[in-house]
Amino acid sequence: MTFSELGLSQKVLAAVEAAGYTQPTEIQAQAIPFALAGRDVLGIAQTGTGKTAAFTLPILTRFEKGRTRARMPRSLILEPTRELAAQVADALETYGAKHKLNVALLIGGVSFADQDRKLDRGADIVIATPGRLLDHQERGKLMLNAVEILVVDEADRMLDMGFIPDIERIFKLTPFTRQTLFFSATMPPEIQRLTDAFLHTPEQIEVAPPSSIVATIEQKLVRAPAEPMAKRDAFRKLLRSLEIATALVFCNRKRDVKVLQRSLAKHGFNVGEIHGDMDQHARMDTLERFRSGTLKYLVASDVAARGLDIPKVSHVFNFDVPYHAEDYVHRIGRTGRAGRRGEAYMLVSKAEHKALAAIEGLIGKKIDWLDGGHDAAESEARPASQAAAAPPADKEATAARPRRRGSRGNGASNGHGRAHERDPAAKRAPAKARQGAERGETVAFAETADVPAFLRRSFTPAS
Ligand code: AMP
Repeated sequence: MTFSELGLSQKVLAAVEAAGYTQPTEIQAQAIPFALAGRDVLGIAQTGTGKTAAFTLPILTRFEKGRTRARMPRSLILEPTRELAAQVADALETYGAKHKLNVALLIGGVSFADQDRKLDRGADIVIATPGRLLDHQERGKLMLNAVEILVVDEADRMLDMGFIPDIERIFKLTPFTRQTLFFSATMPPEIQRLTDAFLHTPEQIEVAPPSSIVATIEQKLVRAPAEPMAKRDAFRKLLRSLEIATALVFCNRKRDVKVLQRSLAKHGFNVGEIHGDMDQHARMDTLERFRSGTLKYLVASDVAARGLDIPKVSHVFNFDVPYHAEDYVHRIGRTGRAGRRGEAYMLVSKAEHKALAAIEGLIGKKIDWLDGGHDAAESEARPASQAAAAPPADKEATAARPRRRGSRGNGASNGHGRAHERDPAAKRAPAKARQGAERGETVAFAETADVPAFLRRSFTPAS
């Protein structure tokens, strides 16, 4: 299958060639012909599959004709996070370099004035996070009754973040005759209900199961002490032992992101941080510096785990074993993108073996230990009586990722689902989700320092 067989315009084909793509990915090959034919598409695909191009290329092809009026976009693309929205805007800029289409990015955390100006001038395509979009609509700055193509991206992430009521409202504000391109990595019942209600006989396309990890990522486990200083020391030694181009380092808690970033910087590493406590400008600025290679390391909370597409990330480190197994898949998916090779290392202390087992269960295989040892879960497991209590509550670890299990996962406390987009401090999970996150799914850090075998000779606890 080649791009030229999909029905895309010459201009779009030229942009695809300029981007260096030789063959459509599976989701592109399957979705683009239906999208061009005006059909609704339900794409079950995760990030990294090339789904951004699967919806942007048909929009560009279809919008070569026709014009947009002020404040009445022809296409609306909804993204769960500001970073993803900005990333889609970048992709549109790349693919649409030769199209004279106006694109407006409507995200929270930045002033309304520039966004208003763009809308007044007439934006063909609006890319938005749901909260900010509705703010514009409520202020009378935006009308959605000329939307021809509505894209809902990362719908299951929207569910996690409590955006489903907003998405429903937005569906109702757009014309019944719109075309909908809807993407989700998984199809929990709430998402199924939404697609049943608002999509018109969609073409369903499924390209990869949610727990799949691309074959180009080499995964390794590293035995690590639980004591924080010793763990950071072990981590630095690991970093120094590897050849790294750029690396993302994930911590479970925002607090640890800050501590680790500061500690690494103090030890001479070129490192930045990204987490939900930072304002939007600082987040974008840090991401840009990481993307451009000015920063070699980026320590991140799970806010950065999903969807971010930074092609040159050679390594992903899990400084902690994630509390939720599926986060492991999202985190390490930041490397090995678009066919490149990537390496993923995870530090594992004794107390984290239960969480490790959950990950191995999800991905359906055992991950090798760097020191070549056997799976230590059985032999090293601490007696239950020594198991520490749940880790201290941390807003981002627990609240920002309300789980789907049990409750509907409406992450915002106001029941309306977008409080945190306006005010990060308002980001709260329902009590049920918080408790869920702190219950059996979390594994505490042990107090004892168990030094990884490969470091034992040189280990000195200093930070
Ligand atoms: P996405 O899943 O949309 O985040 O895309 C993941 C990555 O794949 C991005 O870096 C794209 O630039 C890249 N990509 C998209 N389509 C293709 C293609 N047909 N061939 C090679 N790379 C692609």
